[in-house]
Amino acid sequence: MTGFLNKLYISGSWRGASDGATFEVMNPADETVLTRVASGTVEDAMACLDAAESALADWAARSPRERGEVLRRAFELFNDRIEDIARLITLENGKAGADAMGEAKYAGEFFRWYAEEAVRAEGYLGLAPATGARILVHQKPAGIAVLVTPWNYPAAMGTRKIAPALAAGCPVVIKPASETPLTMLALMPILEEAGVPPGVVNVLPSRSSGAVVGAMLADSRVRVVSFTGSTEVGRKLLHAAADNVVNPAMELGGNAPFIVCKDASIESAAEGLMVAKMRNLGEACTAANRIYVHEDIEKPFIECFTHKMAALKMGNGLEDGVDVGPLVNAETRDKVDHFVRDAVEKGAEVYLGGVRPNGPGFFYPPTVLVNVPDTADCINDEIFGPVAAIQKFRDEDEIIARANATEYGLVAYLYTRDMARGMKLSEQLEFGMIGLNRGLVSDPAAPFGGVKQSGLGREGGKEGLREFQETQYIATEW
Ligand code: NAP
Repeated sequence: MTGFLNKLYISGSWRGASDGATFEVMNPADETVLTRVASGTVEDAMACLDAAESALADWAARSPRERGEVLRRAFELFNDRIEDIARLITLENGKAGADAMGEAKYAGEFFRWYAEEAVRAEGYLGLAPATGARILVHQKPAGIAVLVTPWNYPAAMGTRKIAPALAAGCPVVIKPASETPLTMLALMPILEEAGVPPGVVNVLPSRSSGAVVGAMLADSRVRVVSFTGSTEVGRKLLHAAADNVVNPAMELGGNAPFIVCKDASIESAAEGLMVAKMRNLGEACTAANRIYVHEDIEKPFIECFTHKMAALKMGNGLEDGVDVGPLVNAETRDKVDHFVRDAVEKGAEVYLGGVRPNGPGFFYPPTVLVNVPDTADCINDEIFGPVAAIQKFRDEDEIIARANATEYGLVAYLYTRDMARGMKLSEQLEFGMIGLNRGLVSDPAAPFGGVKQSGLGREGGKEGLREFQETQYIATEW
């Protein structure tokens, strides 16, 4: 197959890797090779930083309105090509058409949101209490940002970083995941046409992620590292960022509890769980991982939810009517298969699915497990697949303690008809985001992010812009 943009994008030009190396990008639905992509080297990473450095002064000096209008054009051009973008997402990631279109819409919205936020430059004037001197506070672009993104949202995890960085006045170097670099590369002609100058956005696909990202973080020109991915790699980048005291923004792993209280509407909780569990095939840091249902409604809830899961159609995500595409690669599929086998060995029962199909393609069917013991690996690790692990509970205090008993703190979901109880329990949950009677929390206008080992900082909302700004205080008198 031809027609993919598959080179490095540096200073507005396409080029091969300095050593000529390339790597394969595969279609997970049929295991065919889509194309080979240039694999950036440390030398290429330095060329990206040179390009970003050359672009920095001009981009930072543009008026907020001008930067906002470039982003607004990017939003419009992105939407004009949204069908092609969604198709490319499915080709390289596997997700079903509706999931890919959902991601593409979400991804494009970051350009619109930050086009609007770019002009909300906040600062203040204060008076020093003892001396009467003026305290003038304003925000400046932080400088060059290195962005590292995962494969599960090939468009949105990039735009969620690029849009606020550009709004703030920062040039970027983005290293997309090696499984799914094509969508990010396909975004570059859109940004060019929108008026992003050469060097402001550079894309560095690379199979040597540790070496190229490490070399950039060791370069004192870099002031921000914004990473989305596993907690394991996030920790490594935090260590690397420490040497030059680079500002870190970390969106890491999750282990989301989904709590269904006794008084919840069974239908709406089951519908919410379909979104929280099955959006993106479960390959989401926000995916419901531990499902706790009150024992009084466990049976009807499982029936209602299993009925919805059984109605999903699995197949190639490019085909009409398919809800469940393949997982991204063999490793992810095998890990999901392990979680199911392990849970069953430890006493869980399979209500639906649970059998790994033969290839080609990395498929795994929608699966419902009940009576899953706390010792099962799928309760303690991110499942990252279409497997719902259901447990029951009796007491609310006990369930909050169980929900909080994890090193992660990204998102928790809670269903109850009593909003006072919902608010009280939400405040007790040690998570950065709560879905209260809602199975979806992601929104460009809201601060997305976790506590504990799920990360540092926030993306989206007003907060997302601050990750790419530095506060300056000017002491003065007049
Ligand atoms: P990953 O293995 O951590 O990889 C993420 C990115 O880091 C990829 O671009 C990868 O490049 C790169 N990378 C890997 N090792 C590196 C190193 N030593 N130094 C620098 N960069 C390195 O994560 P993933 O498997 O792609 O994504 C799944 C994880 O992301 C899950 O844990 C999920 O929860 C998390 N996630 C979090 C959020 C959030 O907002 N909190 C959102 C989405 C996903 P290569 O592809 O070349 O290895």
